Amino acid sequence: MCGSTQSTRLWVAKGFEWSRCDVCHGLQVTHLPTQETLDELYNKHYYEGYKENYDMSRYVDYIGQRAFIQGNLTRRVTWARKHLALAGQSTWLDVGCAAGFLLDVVREHGFSPYGLDYSAFGPKYAQRELQMPNVRQGTIDRLPEDFPRAFDVVSYIDVLEHIPCPRDILQNSIDLVAPGGYLIGETFDPNSWFAQTSGAKWHAIDPPNHLNILSLKAIDDLMVSHGLNRVASASFPRTISIPTIASKLYRQAAPALYRSPLRNLGIPLWFNDVVIWMYRKS
Ligand SMILES: [Zn+2]
Repeated sequence: MCGSTQSTRLWVAKGFEWSRCDVCHGLQVTHLPTQETLDELYNKHYYEGYKENYDMSRYVDYIGQRAFIQGNLTRRVTWARKHLALAGQSTWLDVGCAAGFLLDVVREHGFSPYGLDYSAFGPKYAQRELQMPNVRQGTIDRLPEDFPRAFDVVSYIDVLEHIPCPRDILQNSIDLVAPGGYLIGETFDPNSWFAQTSGAKWHAIDPPNHLNILSLKAIDDLMVSHGLNRVASASFPRTISIPTIASKLYRQAAPALYRSPLRNLGIPLWFNDVVIWMYRKS
């Protein structure tokens, strides 16, 4: 992320070796998985893990957990709105938008919603169930031809850690932000106390789902070098459903919990290891 090639090998977690950048202290898998591995991960029941013998590296039931996910996202949009200074009808592009749950919230706040997701599952749902024709399967290097060339807000919520080449993606994203517009992201902090004390057991260390944990300093340096300034940053709890928490601790219990009334209970968790940040283009 910072451009340095100096790194130190750390440990093997879930079959992948991880390294720490000597300069910015970001974490990354030493060897990226193949494109086929990633396609297999994101295209086959990634959002519907229950269809595949409860493989908990995926979402158990993304749509079924909509109330939790959208509650977490609403808290973030409400925070972001307080810091946005935009006039008139504004556009919001959410990259890695899944089923468009964040865009559903920003639409209520008056934005025109646009979304891209690597997997076909989410956009199909958003188009059909949320009436959002501008949520598409795709990536930002091939923006749909009928999309605007720039957006007032571009967001990456829980996305950058999944991407093999986050520096390229962030640089390209800066070009998609209109003058006076904003780039918003939420990422794990590899230099947080929780990360440093958890080591390989940190829940963010989750390959091949997560491939890199970006240093906030490296993100800041990249943004400032491209003429963006940080407007705000914060760290929020997120409410996690009981079956999801159970699935991490005792996988066999998850299906039974998910079929019980407990599926609708959640616990707010906060480890101060995730930061949402917002930069503005001058
Ligand atoms: Zn670095």
